[in-house]
Amino acid sequence: MYDLVVEGRIVGLERIFEAQIGIEDGVIKKIKKQGLEGENKITVKNGLIFPGFIDPHVHLREDSSHKWDYKEDFETGSKAAAHGGVTTVIDMPNNFLPSVTEERILEKIKLAKKSAVDVLFHGGVVKEYFNEIKKMAGHVVGYKVYLSETTGGLTIDKNDLEVAVSKLSETNLPSVFHTDETRQTLEELIGISNKLKIHVAHVSRSSSIDTLNTKVTYEVTPHHIMFDENNLKKNKFLTVNPTIGTKSDRLAILNALKAGKVFFLATDHAPHTIEDKENGAMGVPGLDIYGNIVSWLIGSLRLDPTYVAKLTSYNAAKLFNLKGRGEIKEGFIANISILKFEPEKVDSTNHFTKCGWSPYDGMTFPGKLIYTIYKDQVFLN
Ligand SMILES: [Zn+2]
Repeated sequence: MYDLVVEGRIVGLERIFEAQIGIEDGVIKKIKKQGLEGENKITVKNGLIFPGFIDPHVHLREDSSHKWDYKEDFETGSKAAAHGGVTTVIDMPNNFLPSVTEERILEKIKLAKKSAVDVLFHGGVVKEYFNEIKKMAGHVVGYKVYLSETTGGLTIDKNDLEVAVSKLSETNLPSVFHTDETRQTLEELIGISNKLKIHVAHVSRSSSIDTLNTKVTYEVTPHHIMFDENNLKKNKFLTVNPTIGTKSDRLAILNALKAGKVFFLATDHAPHTIEDKENGAMGVPGLDIYGNIVSWLIGSLRLDPTYVAKLTSYNAAKLFNLKGRGEIKEGFIANISILKFEPEKVDSTNHFTKCGWSPYDGMTFPGKLIYTIYKDQVFLN
């Protein structure tokens, strides 16, 4: 008798198959065609069972200064993740107190204990703390390198890149680059990708997609998938970094998705209050609507669900070496996201993010997240 049995169409890496999943003590113990008994049972109809989504790029805002907790904190941000089917997030370092040292990372790990899902961390890379890169390695899953301006001012000078790369390569962890998306910068990164595992954050331009091709991995965000400059007039809070592109930029992203060239989806969840947005803050929330976006990728863009499972879970687990995640497999952590194809209109008054609004408010998506299973807990959405 398992604690929980989930049955229905499971999205694997190669195919979709009908089976039962037996869960005990937060672990996937058995996957079988039929015959599993559970104290509780979830039967999925008109839906798909995915490995728990992994969002490798979020800004949950909280640090030991608590100066930005009014925008979001680990509790509200992680609940927004669970609401969207995201069972693992990786938090970015550009806080009020940037996480650029081992001490700061350890403080954040402590603060994140109250989270509803797993919160992992990227270490920040700045010149004055290059000697902390190695010290952070045991506590982070990757590093974030800012080569152009962003919220929090963690930019490093290109002249210091060589030293940074040599320090980073000693850790064997991947580095995520925020770039200006010029051809020159992207080609420089491709040039050093033999020394360091490089991943490019939030690619937003057609030209970047051409330059990167599949030479290094990159991510795209829901807002660059769903919006282009035609939406900017009506939706004045779509101020983000990198900016929303033209229609042809958006089509290039959609084509890269259709061609299977995008490595993963990353929300770049960057909550700001309405007041901060009115004062020009850059970024939009994205965790609560993650399941809606997944339904759009399958229901509207017609991506194969097996590729979507890679985009939303497997590939991030692979890049950041997250053990027991990224697949529905015996012995893996029972992180499971269940999507139903039943239209949903976004209403941010039901969202868990603290910021209190969504750029997707009023939009209708072809499906929604109905259950998020995180280890031994079930969130009913
Ligand atoms: Zn970001």
